[in-house]
Amino acid sequence: MKFSELFVKTSREAPKSETARGARFLVQAGFVHKELAGVYDYLPFGLSVLEKIKNIIREELDKIGCQEVLLSTLQNPELWQKTDRWDIEKMDIWFKTELSSGGELGLAPTHEEPLTELMKSYIKSYKDLPVAAYQIQTKFRNELRAKSGIMRGREFIMKDLYSFSSTETEHEEFYHKTEQAYAKIYERLGIGDCTYQTFASGGVFAKYSHEFQTVVEVGEDTIWHNADWSVVLNEEVLQDEILENLGVKREELESTKAAEVGNIFTLKDKYSAPLGLEFTERDGTKHPVLMGCYGIGVSRLMGVIAEKFADTKGLIWPEAIAPFRYYLVGIGTEGVQKAAELYRGNENEILFDDRDLRPGEKFADAELIGIPYRIVVSGKTLENNEAEVTERKTGETKMVKLSDLTF
Ligand code: ATP
Ligand code: MG
Repeated sequence: MKFSELFVKTSREAPKSETARGARFLVQAGFVHKELAGVYDYLPFGLSVLEKIKNIIREELDKIGCQEVLLSTLQNPELWQKTDRWDIEKMDIWFKTELSSGGELGLAPTHEEPLTELMKSYIKSYKDLPVAAYQIQTKFRNELRAKSGIMRGREFIMKDLYSFSSTETEHEEFYHKTEQAYAKIYERLGIGDCTYQTFASGGVFAKYSHEFQTVVEVGEDTIWHNADWSVVLNEEVLQDEILENLGVKREELESTKAAEVGNIFTLKDKYSAPLGLEFTERDGTKHPVLMGCYGIGVSRLMGVIAEKFADTKGLIWPEAIAPFRYYLVGIGTEGVQKAAELYRGNENEILFDDRDLRPGEKFADAELIGIPYRIVVSGKTLENNEAEVTERKTGETKMVKLSDLTF
């Protein structure tokens, strides 16, 4: 893409309302636009990052046999009444709206109810199980506090996966596959070494649920870990009995701030029983389908990654999700001409800063936007048929022969 053609402009001024560094840079670098507290628009760079995150999630979930769907946002109250989750007293984050013909609808905060109901049309027998369906969809939650930019939104993008099994063993097998797929996803997103699977409270359905927590200063959660991080748990399960279960002592644990980027839950028949999602066993008996649910905060992940890797100058995107791989600057007539040549045919990989600005301003934007590599060509570098390539993450610069530049 040519920078001159982009309608988005970067800004030197920090937005007043964003306190966290990553959140501030996302606005300044033109990745997102704030509509309201907790409500954001995604601009071309931001959308590109978001789509790359989604595709990594898709690839890993498809590998374990999950099938993608897209359910409606508008929700039928009747379903949520059956599971006792329609009442605002029971679920305080509902956004509700009205039909012009009378009656209420909800804006989906999650999708257990509609997907369980939908599956009644397709799951009849043990032969139809196991199955798993996921979607990447906008959720609405009337969160009391919406801070840290896109890390906690009132409208945000979630990947939600639901599994349907006939036996506990079948469920556990799938649960385990998801754990592994999640680890792979976070690794590919560049946060594998700072994202931990933690023990969280599991309610009445399992001993624990699990969360995936990324260590980051602005995280809202506190996690506790032992010296080698082999046991990591959420604060809410920091109880003697659980510690004993996990074989760790309170004294050996340390705490740190983290952001929940995903979670996995065993639901058993919590939703299938009240909604009547049953299957027929080999012997003709009927049983509620056993369910699991597995979330990933897609837009939160973008916020966490922005936050985690930002330095004082701007964002630093991991290569796998950067909107472009290269930021190209030509200096002087000769440099600009050569840059235009390099750009041709590599429009998706290169953000070509062809704006009529001083090199210093372009370099500052390159740092703010956080593209992994900056390539500079000038009369001077061309004397040796070279380009200067600088890695955003390390700041390391090296001279590369033009013939060795591969895009
Ligand atoms: P939290 O404790 O952060 O409120 P949650 O327990 O409500 O999260 P789920 O309802 O299970 O989370 O949602 C699945 C995932 O969606 C979470 O792990 C998180 O990454 C993300 N998520 C939840 N709420 C928000 C939000 N308000 N804004 C952005 N992402 C969110
Ligand atoms: Mg929540």
